[in-house]
Amino acid sequence: MTENFGELLPPARLMLTPGPSNMDPRVYRALATPLVGHMDPWFTEMMGDVQVMLRRVFQTQNRITYPISASGSGGIEASVMNVLEPGDECIICSNGWFSERMAVIADRAPGAKVIRVEAPYGRTVDPEDVRRAGQGKKIKFVGLAHGETSSGVVQNLDHYRKVADELGALLVVDAVATLGGVPLNVEKQKIDICFSGSQKALSAPPGMAPITVNARVEEVIKARKTPVASWYFDFMPIMNMWGSERTYHHTPPISLIFAMREALRLALEEGLEARWDRHRTNQQALVAGLEGMGLELFVTDPAGRLVTVTSVTIPAGIDDRKVRQQLLDEFNIEIAGGFGAVKGKIWRVGLMGYSNQNTNVLLFLGAFEKVLLDQGLRVPAGGGVAAAVESYRHAGQTATMAGARK
Ligand SMILES: *Cc1c(COP(=O)(O)O)cnc(C)c1O
Repeated sequence: MTENFGELLPPARLMLTPGPSNMDPRVYRALATPLVGHMDPWFTEMMGDVQVMLRRVFQTQNRITYPISASGSGGIEASVMNVLEPGDECIICSNGWFSERMAVIADRAPGAKVIRVEAPYGRTVDPEDVRRAGQGKKIKFVGLAHGETSSGVVQNLDHYRKVADELGALLVVDAVATLGGVPLNVEKQKIDICFSGSQKALSAPPGMAPITVNARVEEVIKARKTPVASWYFDFMPIMNMWGSERTYHHTPPISLIFAMREALRLALEEGLEARWDRHRTNQQALVAGLEGMGLELFVTDPAGRLVTVTSVTIPAGIDDRKVRQQLLDEFNIEIAGGFGAVKGKIWRVGLMGYSNQNTNVLLFLGAFEKVLLDQGLRVPAGGGVAAAVESYRHAGQTATMAGARK
């Protein structure tokens, strides 16, 4: 061998992106535990723990609740493919890159018709528009993103549930950016299919998509006249692997399931309410800090701002790439730029899961001030940090990680 490949040594970054988020050291440890065969009785029993905890995090009793072996996009594909049959019509609320991805995937379902109800990046979809689009039609499902990561917008699920009920349609919710960070209750909010991603507010490694499917959807699937167009994502056979039969379907990413188990355990140990509060408190401090620096938030309606991802308008004359590169080189901090309609126009700062900590907010704001000053923007040095500090004092709590206090 002529090359001299050194040991793999990735940099230790602070990931303030819309995913992946940083992981708790306990999740790393779970990831590094010994591999066990997927048919080993010890493993199949452990799978049960994951399902019980996942039901608690989703807040549901749904039988079909498991992490599928795919990234968040696999969750979209599985949801869409399991319910759509040739001749079916569905409505997709498209207000950004990821909700549009659901429409793009549904377009590929054999013989299905997709009705897009759109809103510009940074805005929520008007439920009235959904109602109008579905009037007089037989709509199989209404699909939307709870948190639209590409723009930093959150939507009120209850409005869309109401319209879906009027249309006799199922409600399919992409909660990739929200599960574990933003209040969500699958049972109470009557969500028929809800899926998420492991690497966002749950802070597990990327590669799994937790999903939950209610009895009404099971009936719809049982009544199908055609087989599900995807073999790999067919819910029922996967349930034979996750159900009491524990029969082989495919070899699941065992180590990722270990890490998922630990991430779920930590979420429940902290408590969902406490976790949502932490996410909100830290995001409020971040928002106060960004505004204290004189920056403009991209989502103008405060009620429409996604707690896990904050989008900031890039000031005129400032080079997007240079700012992000300096943050990375000088402070080891990664934030994201925009894509789709907002490419080069916004930055997106993620505060998800383990990354969502007060220490990270204050560190980021200080670093961001330095970088923006160096890049020629006249921000008041210390203005962002001061505003964030005030926000924390006002909130009356520090929003530390539950685990960090011990
Ligand atoms: C990240 C994300 C996805 C895609 O997840 P991948 O793991 O990248 O496939 C889908 N929807 C939303 C809302 C997301 O934030």
